[in-house]
Amino acid sequence: MNTKLPFLDLKAQFATIREEILDTVTRTLESQQFILGPEVTALENEISELTQCKYAVACASGTDALTLALRALGVGPGDEVITVPFTFVASAGSIVQLGAAPVFVDIDPATFNIAAQKIEQAITPQTKAIMPVHLFGLTAAMDEINAIAVRHDIPVIEDAAQAIGAQHHDRPAGSLGLMGCFSFFPSKNLGGAGDGGMITTNDPDCAERLSLLHVHGARERYEYEIVGMNSRLDALQAAILRVKLRHLSDWNAARRRNADFYRKLFAEFNLEEKVGLPLEPASMTHVYNQFTIRVGKRDFLREKLRNRGVPSEIYYPIPLHVQKAFQYLGYQPGDYPVSECASREVLSLPIYPELSEEQQRSVVAAIAESIAA
Ligand SMILES: *Cc1c(COP(=O)(O)O)cnc(C)c1O
Repeated sequence: MNTKLPFLDLKAQFATIREEILDTVTRTLESQQFILGPEVTALENEISELTQCKYAVACASGTDALTLALRALGVGPGDEVITVPFTFVASAGSIVQLGAAPVFVDIDPATFNIAAQKIEQAITPQTKAIMPVHLFGLTAAMDEINAIAVRHDIPVIEDAAQAIGAQHHDRPAGSLGLMGCFSFFPSKNLGGAGDGGMITTNDPDCAERLSLLHVHGARERYEYEIVGMNSRLDALQAAILRVKLRHLSDWNAARRRNADFYRKLFAEFNLEEKVGLPLEPASMTHVYNQFTIRVGKRDFLREKLRNRGVPSEIYYPIPLHVQKAFQYLGYQPGDYPVSECASREVLSLPIYPELSEEQQRSVVAAIAESIAA
């Protein structure tokens, strides 16, 4: 290959929608309507349709979506929220921001998602929510999780930041718990030109609280019912996201096609014994925000791939329970062995929609050569 293969090629994507994006940006600039307004409302309606949720509230980031959802439940100091240590920092950071404590539950080694059978032993009288993460674009085991949640009368908030368009028994991510939280960070499957987020719900009370909380708690202008945040999605972002949303199902389908082709290639190169491929349970539709393999000598392989010009990333190299920021919680190395093992073995490969079959072949060929070396 003469041109360097990127891990994620957002420029290739932009080239396919350049005119549409420039048009909508121009129109929004001409309107000079930057805060809330018709583009934001239209995006909320479109996301509510996509997720089959009655309500969708746009906000400033995926992190804020999690924080707002927790605040809508009244989570605060002294409360506990169950989540996983093998995730992006914001899953637990949002809990800490509100003065509550994240209580970690280890993951399932096959799906990288919360081990549902370990949730119940983590529940205490302080547990205010269970927050599964749909990691890499695969929904968590929501049947089991919701059954536990119902038994203990604890609400479920989905961290669906990586899973827009994913399905679980034909139900979309975002509609599988009480509230669903999405991120429009540029590297997500639906990414804006900056930060953005959305919360979805079918619950009118939650929707009402979210819509107050994200604009300072104001119901009427300058009349505040509760103290809220300033967490709005910019109209410019909404306009851009609306253009990109029209392509999301094609892009997700392309990611799934690429995942299938990787599976074929790993078989063709006889790597199936040496490399663990991502699982897709029959009841779920994975949207492959990441295509994450497992390998024993991960760091060795990554170095060899880098030398061959093949990019890869490690999501996530250090589980949250052993991060310095969370040390005060008192967790020790060894407390979550499945997460710790995943952190040592995972390697994410390029999977973006515009990736070509030749590029995929070069990735897998480089893996085969590196492992043989
Ligand atoms: C990206 C992400 C977030 C945070 O979203 P931002 O928009 O970056 O704030 C939260 N949780 C997970 C699992 C994510 O991948």
